[in-house]
Amino acid sequence: METPDITPAYRGRFAPSPTGPLHFGSLVAAVGSYLDARHHAGEWLVRMEDLDPPREVPGAADEILRTLEHYGLHWDGEVRYQGHRHSGYQLALEQLDADGWLYGCACTRREIADTALPGQGGNIYPGTCRNGLPEGRKERALRVRVGDTEICFDDGLQGSRRQHLGRDVGDFVVRRADDLAAYQLAVVVDDAAQQITHVVRGADLLDSTPRQIHLQGLLGLATPTYLHLPVAINSAGEKLGKQTHACSIAGTDPVPVLLDVLRFLKQELPDTDGGPAPEDLLDWATRHWDNTPLCGHGTRPAPAEYLAD
Ligand code: GLU
Repeated sequence: METPDITPAYRGRFAPSPTGPLHFGSLVAAVGSYLDARHHAGEWLVRMEDLDPPREVPGAADEILRTLEHYGLHWDGEVRYQGHRHSGYQLALEQLDADGWLYGCACTRREIADTALPGQGGNIYPGTCRNGLPEGRKERALRVRVGDTEICFDDGLQGSRRQHLGRDVGDFVVRRADDLAAYQLAVVVDDAAQQITHVVRGADLLDSTPRQIHLQGLLGLATPTYLHLPVAINSAGEKLGKQTHACSIAGTDPVPVLLDVLRFLKQELPDTDGGPAPEDLLDWATRHWDNTPLCGHGTRPAPAEYLAD
């Protein structure tokens, strides 16, 4: 019997980490992924990436959801919480292990920093534990082998990308020393479980994408289409975020902020004499969405009012 093809034509997502309130930069990723999905008559899901308790701020997940609603960014279906999905990550780790792709690693960050060369996703792991743990050392993390794999993919905005995982990244962690699934593994398992067809997110994650495509290949999962939006930066060229004390956009009047986001995304703006609901503005922007002016932009300056003093 033929099984019906149930993969949706377009299912996108916004996947915030609840490490603090939304700021201009995270709103850019939310709005960009929302508009691209809705413009293609697609679904748009929200996934809370609450997989890193030490970095989480209590109450931030709920506040992010309230802020999305305040901005008229209404999602489809239930919010998925990574914090509830440990067994799914465990199954993926077991599959990788059974296929011989994993090994235990005893190295501390410090040891790696002392010997490794800087690469595209942090230090390039020098392979110290690849053929077994050194005498007397205990396993801390689990790493996946990358061998001689080169990954090529076409990004919707950043063009054709190529990364040699062995030379540029090295074998990377899939289960951390604190026993939690690493971001690279969790994102791949969840994008597949949620049948995400289009990943639209900030270009700060461009260098992670080849690692994710590598894991999809090893786990026999489909690779979504990727589109990496320009990242909002401050005058020092730093990404807006908690470390750079970006201002929260939680309590502000949504329409002027959305207009700034649309300007940042180089979108046409409606003639408005003020007063539309955020939903009306997003509907207009959905109909007029055109991402071609953003081609090749990895970063763009954020307007000054969203930066810390
Ligand atoms: N949770 C990640 C972040 O907030 C985004 C992950 C993704 O979109 O793949 O930076």
